[in-house]
Amino acid sequence: MSAQIIDGKQIAASYRAKVKGEVEAFVAQHGRAPGLATVLIGEDAGSQVYVGAKHRACEEVGMVSFGHTLPASTPTSQIEDLIDELNADDRVDGILCQLPVPAPHDGDALSQRVSADKDVDGLTETSAGRLALAAPGLRPCTPRGVMVMLDELGVDLSGKRAVVVGRSNLFGKPMAQMLLQANATVTMAHSRTVDLPGVCRGAEVLIVAVGQPEMVKRDWIAPGATVIDVGMNRTDRLVGDVAFDEASEVAGAITPVPGGVGPMTIAMLLANTLDAARAAEARRSAAR
Ligand code: NDP
Repeated sequence: MSAQIIDGKQIAASYRAKVKGEVEAFVAQHGRAPGLATVLIGEDAGSQVYVGAKHRACEEVGMVSFGHTLPASTPTSQIEDLIDELNADDRVDGILCQLPVPAPHDGDALSQRVSADKDVDGLTETSAGRLALAAPGLRPCTPRGVMVMLDELGVDLSGKRAVVVGRSNLFGKPMAQMLLQANATVTMAHSRTVDLPGVCRGAEVLIVAVGQPEMVKRDWIAPGATVIDVGMNRTDRLVGDVAFDEASEVAGAITPVPGGVGPMTIAMLLANTLDAARAAEARRSAAR
């Protein structure tokens, strides 16, 4: 059997086109474009590339972006003041503090300072609490992107056995919550899981985010399972956490790396910024 290769680039492109249309409608209704502010600290080349891609993506869908680049030597209190200003700025709907931040700054503490209503990365304690309670709120981009992907594939998660390998706050935990809310029967696996291959073989939907190149082998996968590979590992090339060639002989559908989950993340950042802008306008109109 040969798996369906899930084309994340194509799904992300059509999602971005949908967001673009919705941004046009938002501008027509509210007379302004949704705004995303980025805070980049230091000169990490990878972070500069990521932030640049986020600004370009905003422009493509008609959103405005506000870039703030600060040297690593900036006092933490000054970065906190900037985040406070952005929290209070009505033109800014989403705030993204690019991680990792250089020492001595604490990326988690800075992320927590972002107002939950502008937390387009979905990383604040309030956003995590809203997700756990299935309350409205902004969700972390990558797991949201996986849910969009599964929906596009027509996977009905209700009652399905889903296994998430990896339990990070950034991905694994919110992913498991989202699957649970879609009525899947969810198992979370991690580095202490006993018989990880056997646990994975029980999955109808297997989602892997561990950061271990090609760890998941062919015999870890149930025939016909949907396999979502979130891992991004640089070896001599970019590879995922799943041994793609052998896994695609068994899986029903599988994401490649690159070109699978990766492109979904920025598309969901745009979706979150638009959601935050709509919620801000709804609050303003309720206050009038
Ligand atoms: P973390 O390092 O924060 O978490 C890794 C998780 O994997 C931990 O829960 C850890 O378990 C578990 N783990 C590590 N080794 C093993 C193992 N041998 N067996 C079972 N579980 C293991 O990573 P992230 O969640 O931030 O990222 C994971 C991967 O996903 C990375 O490759 C990252 O680059 C990629 N990623 C890609 C994104 C995208 O946009 N495509 C976005 C986010 C992440 P324990 O808790 O027990 O230590």
